[in-house]
Amino acid sequence: MTTLSEFSVSTCSGTAKKIYSAGGKTDWINITGEVQKAVASSGVREGVCVVFVPHTTAAVTVNENADPNVPRDINFALNMVSPERIEFAHSEGNSAAHVKTTLVGPSITLIVTGGKLLLGTWQGIWFNEYDGPRTRKVYVRVLGE
Ligand code: ZN
Repeated sequence: MTTLSEFSVSTCSGTAKKIYSAGGKTDWINITGEVQKAVASSGVREGVCVVFVPHTTAAVTVNENADPNVPRDINFALNMVSPERIEFAHSEGNSAAHVKTTLVGPSITLIVTGGKLLLGTWQGIWFNEYDGPRTRKVYVRVLGE
């Protein structure tokens, strides 16, 4: 797992922008705490929280936050689904990362209740890097009252 090497926040109507620098080609970064901070700073008690990753080779998902072998196994499976292929035509050479990003997706929507994210006991929010290391952004928008 990667530690944050760069971090900034800008807020406007409950929107937070957070920048992470991922440490490897493929990496999962647990951003649950940062998203929860964005929810708390929004002041919203009941509503929804949208987390959006504005990149084509990085994604966001919710999955187990207890056993580090779970992200490892998911990446193992994604590498079987979308391995590096010489047949890929994209000149940048990172089509496998583009495919994984499309499979996982650029955003998630979560329920906010009591001023906190509603997550299952074992769930965490994971930023997924598939073509690192790069400096990345994550946008959080909290809607509600
Ligand atoms: Zn590309």
